[in-house]
Amino acid sequence: MRFAVQSRNDDLSNELMERAKTYLTDFGLIFDDAEPDVVLSIGGDGTLLHAFHRYKERLDEVAFVGIHTGHLGFYADWKPAEIEKLVISIAKHDFQVIEYPLLEVKVEYTNRNQSATFLALNESTIKSPEVTLVMDVELNGALFERFRGDGLCVSTPTGSTAYNKALGGAILHPSLPAIQMTEMASINNRVFRTVGSPLILPSHHNLVLKPVKGPDFMVTIDHLQILQKDVKSVHYRVAKERVRFARFRPFPFWKRVHDSFIDSND
Ligand code: NAP
Repeated sequence: MRFAVQSRNDDLSNELMERAKTYLTDFGLIFDDAEPDVVLSIGGDGTLLHAFHRYKERLDEVAFVGIHTGHLGFYADWKPAEIEKLVISIAKHDFQVIEYPLLEVKVEYTNRNQSATFLALNESTIKSPEVTLVMDVELNGALFERFRGDGLCVSTPTGSTAYNKALGGAILHPSLPAIQMTEMASINNRVFRTVGSPLILPSHHNLVLKPVKGPDFMVTIDHLQILQKDVKSVHYRVAKERVRFARFRPFPFWKRVHDSFIDSND
């Protein structure tokens, strides 16, 4: 089995990375940065986002494992003290692979036929660089609302505990193949109206945003910010690709939500 390690690059994460490399190599695994079967991410959930984007071309082959060197994460749910146990389980291939849904974002442009497609593990947001974002929101080909406000966020189930949660979105169990759209400070008065509630769409539905004002937008894909010029439309749906995580022991999602947001001491 081949492995790679992504570190957050602080002292503790780098030290753990070196230990993990030594242990795994001692167990006969091969360090292969380019084509790993298992990727250890050491740091936080943010580190796992970096690892995901680094290996997004080979999602079918890779299983991710997250170790947290700060607080408990949703992707980074192993403690540094558990590293030996983890290495033995990887070496013995003593793990299950679980898959979670991803978000596909396709941008079409006014000045060319080619579109750009991105995959997000957490979410994609869209904002206007200078003025209020004004977008027509279409659901399954029909106009749903004209949004005016700071921006819109479309998240995956595993991303629902991140930016989406801060925007008042629901926490979705990752076994649901769905995406969720949340508003950022919509303008709502007697003239302008949006639904105001987060929308959760199943995998056979699609969401399209069409600019009403301004062709240039700041689009984020997880931690990445991409200025998109001459945008005709932005299409969102549950991606056909899925992300794979190596699961070594049960750690139910709702327990992770409890331990992360309510209380981790019981
Ligand atoms: P960052 O600003 O350094 O970190 C954002 C925080 O989000 C970190 O505490 C990170 O956890 C946490 N996080 C990431 N994915 C999560 C998940 N699925 N569930 C719960 N918490 C999660 O940015 P970054 O490290 O580059 O990460 C980019 C992410 O930041 C974006 O995908 C977005 O979700 C999030 N973000 C959140 C807000 C907000 O809540 N208001 C605003 C902008 C962006 P770790 O400390 O474990 O890395």
